[in-house]
Order: sequence, then structure tokens, then C-alpha cells
Amino acid sequence: MFDGASTTIVAVATPPGRGAIAIVRASGPGVPELARRLVQTKSPLRRRMATYATIVDDSGDPLDRGLAILFEAPQSYTGEDMLELQIHGSPVVAREVVRAMLACGAALAEPGEFTRRAFFNGKMGLQAAAAVADIIDAQTRSAARAALANFDSGLAHEVRAVRSALAVIVEELEGTIDFPDEVPEPDRGGLKQRLAPIRARLERLRRDGELGKIVREGLGVAIIGPPNAGKSSLLNALLGTERAIVSEIPGTTRDTIEESVIVDGVPVRLIDTAGIRAHADRLEAQGIARTERALDGAAIALVVVDGSKPADPGAQRLLERTQGRPRILFLNKADLGTDPTFAVQWPDAIAGSVRDAATLERLRRAIAHAGWNGERFDATRPHLASLYEFEAADAALGALTQAGEALDADEALDFVATELTHAFSQLGHVSEQVAAEEIVTGIFSRFCIGK
Ligand code: GDP
Repeated sequence: MFDGASTTIVAVATPPGRGAIAIVRASGPGVPELARRLVQTKSPLRRRMATYATIVDDSGDPLDRGLAILFEAPQSYTGEDMLELQIHGSPVVAREVVRAMLACGAALAEPGEFTRRAFFNGKMGLQAAAAVADIIDAQTRSAARAALANFDSGLAHEVRAVRSALAVIVEELEGTIDFPDEVPEPDRGGLKQRLAPIRARLERLRRDGELGKIVREGLGVAIIGPPNAGKSSLLNALLGTERAIVSEIPGTTRDTIEESVIVDGVPVRLIDTAGIRAHADRLEAQGIARTERALDGAAIALVVVDGSKPADPGAQRLLERTQGRPRILFLNKADLGTDPTFAVQWPDAIAGSVRDAATLERLRRAIAHAGWNGERFDATRPHLASLYEFEAADAALGALTQAGEALDADEALDFVATELTHAFSQLGHVSEQVAAEEIVTGIFSRFCIGK
């Protein structure tokens, strides 16, 4: 066994299976001994330098040749001594190298344990640790960019600034509460005014978080409309493939189809629904249920109707159903004519044809700009990425509301101070390393072994 408070962990950091290179990494106080026993080089290992080496097992028998890199604490990913061995990408050899390290007293790393150590050693904040997992999990380029923005985060800085502003006010209040004779009560109206920009900054953080969630998961756009309106044609045009079946027979698209696509840089989930039949029968009921389900999962309704003829009851119902929620109205088949009633009834609609490139361009722009509350997506802006951060921001906002109400109701200042202190500590969950154990565990359980 090695000396030191913490164990020395080891793991294969590359994916299982054959590959060009496999990386075995170890971290902890036993690393110098591992290097001495298992890594043979002509000249001594120099820290942070790749050195050609023969890797041997715990009895000194050669296992492979590769590159060895030694990192000395605290200048390493984990903040501890680390050894990284780049060997041939054979699962057998990688396993043997790990086995040799275990024989020397190392222990197998848990998933995310390297990053967990980096967090506890102050090498990165929780925000950055979560961003590491997000980068690894990213399904699209914009998701990866968003995660990277979080990794280098200006966000922790912004949260800290909001926290400091709160701390100043809390201190003042405590002064008055503790020494009522010496420190005069602050003006309540003035206090409210000073809380307003703090609140605005928090709300901004929260809104950016919503945007970030969309960047990660994709903006849900439900393509709905009566049968034969051109929904499948539109889906195909946006996807640039012949994925959905286009047909002259109404209602061919029976099932909901979901496809991911990048529209003007925004990751979008297109949800294509079955058409709603004009005649009341069982199929129509199913179609309506499906449309409702699609709408449930969507941020935006993209309503497609045949604009060349007057709206049938099905189209009317959909137009009314989607009123008051973010939607894009598309009057298709303009090449066959445009029914004049639409222009009067739905002046904000986009009229054109899915067969026309300019119409498609307008629709793409409408989707990308629909974004969220009229804001465009910016994948490079840092954002609250995880549920716990949302909850913390929500709780802080809730506490600010309570404080504001207490001020309005002329309640005692210590009540106001308590709420503001609560907001302060909630924000600590986002910016500082004071997150509860279950939050930390939740984040690190997302990692794979070796990260
Ligand atoms: P869905 O039932 O809403 O999915 O409609 P489809 O996409 O299957 O289209 C129904 C029919 O309308 C197909 O024959 C399409 O080729 C045709 N169609 C779709 N868009 C247009 C258009 O802009 N102009 C014309 N003339 N026909 C269209």
C-alpha cells in the first residue's frame, strides 16, 4: 500500500475495445512508485513531458511500449500526482497495465472519480465539472460549444458578483438589526430599488439556463395541420431527405415522427404529427390525441394549412387551438393560389410553398428566431446547465420575492435579512464549492470510468 491520505486510483480512460491508442491513467500519492516500478525509460521521466517508455508489469516483465507522462501535484487534472500511459489500443494490454497497477496497491477508479478529485482539490468548480460531462455527452456541435462556454465559465463569476451584491445589503441590514441605536434603518424604498437589478441579473441567468437546456435537448417544433396540407413535405424539405412518406392519400402519416436537425445553427427537434381528419371517426380522435401529445413536447407549434383553399373545420380548430402559444403559421401551396380569407384572418402567417426555396428559407429563419421569448440562441453564452442550478436560482429568486413582499408589508427587517441570506446561500450552490453531497454525487455519477 502507498502512503498518503487518499488512495491511488487507476482506470483505462479510452473507450473499451480495440483502437489505435489506449490511455491508462492513475492519480494519487502512489503515482511516483507506480512510475518507478512499471515505467522504464532511458532518461528519467520529466514532468509534463511525453517520454518513450517500456511498460512492465509488477514482476518486471514487459507489457508494451508507449508514451508515459508524469504530472506532479498540483499541476495536473486532479491536482494530485498523475501518471498517464499511452499504449497500444489493445484491451488486453490495457487490462494488464491496470492489473499491474492494482498489484502495486492502486485501486480501480469509480466513474468520474478523477474529475471528482479535481473538484475537491479546487482544480475546477462544480459548474466546470458538470460542463466536462456535458462536453462528453454532447450530441451536436452547438451542445458541445455551449458546454465549452460553461467550462470556461464567466457564469460562476456572474453568480459570484450577484452574491457579493447581496452580501453587501445583508451586512447593512445586520448592522441595523444588531445595533439599532447606532445604525439607522435603511430606507425601504431604496432597498427595494437596490434589489431590483440583482433580481434582473438572476432572472437573466435563469433565462440563459432555459436557452441552454434547449441547446442541449433541441428546440421542439411540432408540425401540425390537417391531412394533405403538406406537413410531411415540409419535414422532408427541412431535413433534406425523404424520411417521411409523402402521399396524395390524406392521413398516411399515422405516427408521430421525430427528427433532429440544425436550423440556422439552432438544434431543433421536428415533431411531425398525424393529420387530423375532417370527419369525426376513431382515426380523427387518435390524430387529435397525437397532435396534443406533440404539442405537449414542443416549444413551438408550426401550423401547416393548405392556403390555396378556404380553411376547413380541421384547420380552423388547429388555428384556434394554438392561439396564445408560440407558433408559426404556414399557408402552403401558394403555387395553387391563395385563399383571400387567410390574409385577413391570419395576417402574421407565412404564405408560400414547400417547393419554393425562398419560402423554406423564411420558415427556417422563423424557427431559429422563434427561439425562446424572442431571443436567438447563442451557444457560446454560459448558462445554468443542470437541474440543481435551476433549483438554486429559483430558490434564490423566490427568496428575493419574499424579501420584497416583506419590505412592502413593512415587516421586521430581520425577516428581510433572513430571506436575502437564504438567496445568498442558494447561489453558493452554483458558484462555490458548497454544494450538497447528493448534488456532487449526482453530477459525478454521469461520468464514465477514467474521467
Ligand atoms: P401531409 O398529409 O400534411 O403530410 O401532406 P403531404 O406532405 O403528404 O402532402 C400532400 C400532397 O400535397 C402531396 O401530394 C404533396 O406533393 C402535395 N404538396 C405539398 N406541398 C405542396 C405545395 O406547396 N404545392 C403543391 N402544389 N402541392 C404540394
